[in-house]
Amino acid sequence: MASDPKTISQSGLPSAEANQAAALAAYGGVLTVDLDAIIANWRKLEKTAVPAECSAVIKADAYGCGAEQVSRALSKAGCRTFFVATLEEARKVRAAVPEPTIYVLGGYFQNTGEHYAKINCRPVIGDLNELAEWDVFCRRSGWTGGAAVHIDTGMNRLGLTLADAQAIIPRINAGDHGITLVMSHLVSAEQLNSPMNAKQLATFRSIASEFTGVPAALANSSGIFLGAPFQFDLVRPGAALYGVNPTPEADNPMQPVVELKARIVQIRNIERGESVGYGGTWTARRPTKLAIIAVGYADGYFRAASSNDGTRGADVIVAGKRCPIAGRISMDLIAIDITDLPPNAARRGHMVTLLGDGITVDELAHHFGTIGYEVLTSLGHRYARVYKGGDAVEPLARPEPGSSAGQPPSPPPIEQPAAPPSLPS
Ligand SMILES: *Cc1c(COP(=O)(O)O)cnc(C)c1O
Repeated sequence: MASDPKTISQSGLPSAEANQAAALAAYGGVLTVDLDAIIANWRKLEKTAVPAECSAVIKADAYGCGAEQVSRALSKAGCRTFFVATLEEARKVRAAVPEPTIYVLGGYFQNTGEHYAKINCRPVIGDLNELAEWDVFCRRSGWTGGAAVHIDTGMNRLGLTLADAQAIIPRINAGDHGITLVMSHLVSAEQLNSPMNAKQLATFRSIASEFTGVPAALANSSGIFLGAPFQFDLVRPGAALYGVNPTPEADNPMQPVVELKARIVQIRNIERGESVGYGGTWTARRPTKLAIIAVGYADGYFRAASSNDGTRGADVIVAGKRCPIAGRISMDLIAIDITDLPPNAARRGHMVTLLGDGITVDELAHHFGTIGYEVLTSLGHRYARVYKGGDAVEPLARPEPGSSAGQPPSPPPIEQPAAPPSLPS
């Protein structure tokens, strides 16, 4: 790992801590992904769905959390099946985990069969043309790696129509069909009382039962919590693994995974009546102390969470207390009203918390005007990224002299003037 220079292990030896601090100083923010929390969430979902197999959806770079790191950690924890969106994502995951089954959700394109075979992953077939093209490839190449068939039960996005699904039943009954999974996708799983749930369940149950001997899968994160009838042979959680609440109408059963901290780059005092930020939309109603932090909308912290004289925006935790954002969020900077903190509680160089310590992905989503999924997948790549837990992360260590035999060469020490902030891993 650590092919990405911004990837820094937190389980470092003491000798590496100074290096790490210096490396982090090159960034305005630090994003910490707790792999142990992801594993704990996966185990919880697995337990909830037992006896169904629990896979993991790690598309979009594992919802912004890092597909390589997440697939490695979950694979060690016992996860045997992963779902990604594209062949390119599958390639990255296959490089990280040699064993598990990988399905590519995005559908099959003509003449790409050899790419699937090369990395041993399986397409999720979404219509009869795709199936015919895949069959041609398998027949010509002799490849028997398998494919999933996706049946549409109401999303009207991807998947065979029911009539088309019916049309391939004879092939299933004939045996030796190469179909390793039959699946569909829920439209409104997070709404317990949506009539769509029961409707899709009935439709899927009926068609899946005709795919004799083929494992079936319907539930995403929220679908798992709709109960045993939705769980079939395999469940496909994504968002819940990363801490998004799969049961929005009740308390979040999942552990938080992502923490985002940013550095205070300046403290300033302004007079009553002065405005803050672009457009001057926020006016100080008293002599005000501001902390300016080095994160902005270019880091995935949506501008929609800005505040103005009429509306309070999102909160940021400074010195242990929630403080309001003052004015518009800029591309790289945010001003926070810290007037209510004790004097000197916050100083230049201190870190503040934008996500974590009780500020959840779902709370931010509310301020951003979106859902937790988009908060996670928008997480920027300008932060330093720190992974903790998971055992998947090799210790952050500069090898002792003479102990480096057989190890990959380590990058130059970061205190060298022009060196990038990369660290051996
Ligand atoms: C993204 C996706 C999932 C995972 O959904 P979550 O709501 O994130 O759990 C499952 N199945 C399919 C087909 C998907 O596209």
